[in-house]
Amino acid sequence: MTDFDCKHSPRPELGRRSFITCTAVAAGVAATGGFADARSKSPKDNAAAPTQPAADTAVPIQALEEKRKFMEEAAALATESVEKGWGGPFGAVIVKDGKVIGRGQNRVLLTGCPVYHAEITAIMDASQRLNPKALLGSDYGAGTILEMIPREPGSPDLVPERAKMLKGCEIYINGAPCPMCMSAIYWSRISHVYFAASLEDTSHIGFDDAFQYADFKKPWDQRSIAVTPNFERDVGLTAYRAWEDKKDRHPY
Ligand SMILES: [Zn+2]
Repeated sequence: MTDFDCKHSPRPELGRRSFITCTAVAAGVAATGGFADARSKSPKDNAAAPTQPAADTAVPIQALEEKRKFMEEAAALATESVEKGWGGPFGAVIVKDGKVIGRGQNRVLLTGCPVYHAEITAIMDASQRLNPKALLGSDYGAGTILEMIPREPGSPDLVPERAKMLKGCEIYINGAPCPMCMSAIYWSRISHVYFAASLEDTSHIGFDDAFQYADFKKPWDQRSIAVTPNFERDVGLTAYRAWEDKKDRHPY
């Protein structure tokens, strides 16, 4: 059974339990069905969204009118999640060539899944829109997000080419990304991040992302969560060897 064999309803309002039992990937794909409502909201509907930077933050990005529109949509998705009790006040949209290709909103409360963050689901949404067959493991070709492109000139990357992923896309997030989502953005090769509210703003409403950034800078043995590095390293490396030995592997 693959992640996409899940037959549960893609509409969260039709079944709360269904989202809990889906895998994160399937849930991310399914989530695309639930983002239509926020798109139709006007900017004034977003008045309650936390898009205004606090006085103690850096100067906000001077968004052009079009870019502001994308941020407003991210905020609308976030506000919808709050109003419907689906999760925290976080929404994201991914834009390619001036068009929205992915939407996500925090649905941690709806799903009971702690990693159901807006940016993650927006990335899943965009990926499946741009490359639906890849979700079945069958489309690595030109024009897909798994198309190989050469590394940038001067890049220290040891691999000569990588999958394009979401290179060239922008992501608009109504609040600063947590480290998990920022990592997801790196993996996606998204080219530009626009976020509105700061990490400090997020802390002020009770979400503790900021300490995670600080924790990541510490050595393994000083993290706030116990970490045992290199535990049974040889066992882990068996899969690495399988990857290295795979003649037709598709690097990404
Ligand atoms: Zn996050």
